[in-house]
Amino acid sequence: MSSPLRSFIEVPADSHFPIQNLPFGVFQPKQEKPRVGVAIGDLIVDLSVLEELDHFRSPEFQGQEVFSGDSLNGFLALGRPAWRKTREILQRLLSTETPTLRDDTRLRERVFHAQKDVMMKLPARIGNYTDFYSSYYHAHNVGTMLRGPENALMPNWKWLPVAYHGRASSVVVSGADVRRPHGQIKPPDASAPIFGPTKSLDYELEMAFLVGPGNSRGEPVPIDRAVDQVFGLVLMNDWSARDIQAWEYQPLGPFLAKNFCTSISPWVVTLEALEPFRKPLLLQDPEPLPYLRGTNDFTYDIQLEARLQTSSMNAPHVITRTNFQNLYWSIAQQLAHHTVNGCNLEPGDLLASGTISGATEESRGCMLELTWRGANPLKLPNGETRKWLEDGDTLTITGWCQGESYRVGFGGVRGKIIASGV
Ligand code: CA
Repeated sequence: MSSPLRSFIEVPADSHFPIQNLPFGVFQPKQEKPRVGVAIGDLIVDLSVLEELDHFRSPEFQGQEVFSGDSLNGFLALGRPAWRKTREILQRLLSTETPTLRDDTRLRERVFHAQKDVMMKLPARIGNYTDFYSSYYHAHNVGTMLRGPENALMPNWKWLPVAYHGRASSVVVSGADVRRPHGQIKPPDASAPIFGPTKSLDYELEMAFLVGPGNSRGEPVPIDRAVDQVFGLVLMNDWSARDIQAWEYQPLGPFLAKNFCTSISPWVVTLEALEPFRKPLLLQDPEPLPYLRGTNDFTYDIQLEARLQTSSMNAPHVITRTNFQNLYWSIAQQLAHHTVNGCNLEPGDLLASGTISGATEESRGCMLELTWRGANPLKLPNGETRKWLEDGDTLTITGWCQGESYRVGFGGVRGKIIASGV
């Protein structure tokens, strides 16, 4: 057995970014152009510099330069052989055994940036964004509120991964403020809707994956080849205005209640990094149709938390504790289903899980479920209560896989609610 991977960069055991992770993102140093980097500890490896120095010249890269631009799209289009090769090259260059960077102070100054000194950008140009609804417990809780426990799940729910097409233009990177949206709201006892700022602003704890090369229109991706299309995962907050949603959603589903803002984390954790944390899927009953039945389908053990900090709190308070394993449908099933009619996916497309709730109360992934539509307000440690998010509240989602003495983490996705404009 080989000795565990170690880097000459010191990384504490609770860091999200050890050498086992190496997530990809787009960063911008002050006064410079954005480019692609990989996180290790508190640092970022500038891949555009390594590319310039011919470290990525093997056939997997097809003669292309993919790390000096402002998105991962070119790299995503190259597919898994290039993704694997890049990881292999970086793990070698960063290991304690390799002198190339370790012993060259001037090169290290060019290649490494401190994360605190740069701005993180959206990792990809997202052409299309789809949001699934794949947590049984979330669907069941919401269905119970709307229709009662007997009819909680719609008849299609266990047969196909339900989804809607979201809006890509308002997907933002962690840290962006979230302006409280206006819209039409119909109070339960009113005969006509009113217009105003939402009174029931919510978060949805989700994860999402970025699509790689994609498929041609008319050519579905078979389930057993679906994960070849998946580059990696991010954390996502699907901000939602519940009162606007309740009035507008029938019969075509979410629209303005969701498309004002969706936040994602800046670092994309690759499937290679997640490999040690694979878990079997939950039992699916009824058995899905053959096109959704993978030979070795799987999910991941990813611990997830949502933390709320109001403007009068000194520290964030955990309000959701859940796990990616709570999802009923796998990422392979989501992707196979999305393309089964011939719909073409493209590099940089974002496919999200839906709110990830579990069986327990603390694992509910949004305020709608936590407060049961406002009936049981959350009690915060400083005595404040919340039915919904208020102006000045900051909501952060974080997640990690726990290994033996290391973590493969996702960092976080954070957003602060600001008052609506007039
Ligand atoms: Ca959602």
